[in-house]
Amino acid sequence: MKKITTPFWETKQLKELTHEEWEALCDGCGLCCLHKMQDEEEEDAPVVLTRVVCRCYDIKAGQCSDYPNRHEKVEGCTALTPDRAAEFDWLPETCAYRLRHHNLPLPSWHPLISGSRERVRLYGVHALDPVLETDDIDLEEYIIDP
Ligand code: SF4
Ligand code: SF4
Repeated sequence: MKKITTPFWETKQLKELTHEEWEALCDGCGLCCLHKMQDEEEEDAPVVLTRVVCRCYDIKAGQCSDYPNRHEKVEGCTALTPDRAAEFDWLPETCAYRLRHHNLPLPSWHPLISGSRERVRLYGVHALDPVLETDDIDLEEYIIDP
């Protein structure tokens, strides 16, 4: 008989994860690297996503081009840490950190479950036909309809 063990992301709170476990929980979808907009004149206006991805994102490789230095390199690249989990509601609904903060299961395509990063491309930045950020880009032209 094979012993079935409960995976770490279901047995541990986000704050209890090791650094390696925390990093493994990120599915690499890249959706957090898309620029977002919010109507300043409307109170509690929803955050809307655009198809414009951070200039530091490598679209072909499907990942940040300078992950170790991302916070120094790009102003506004938010550090996701366990003690800030309550603020994660600006992240996409599929984000593993957001899901686990709300005690929700990871999707079947998450690499920790599927064992592969292949299917992430169907749900992440790649599926949205991303456009790389430039100095003069008009984000409003690239808002994604909710
Ligand atoms: S949205 Fe969440 S799961 Fe996706 S890349 Fe960003 S931090 Fe990782
Ligand atoms: S610096 Fe890297 S991790 Fe940060 S938003 Fe840009 S592409 Fe994403």
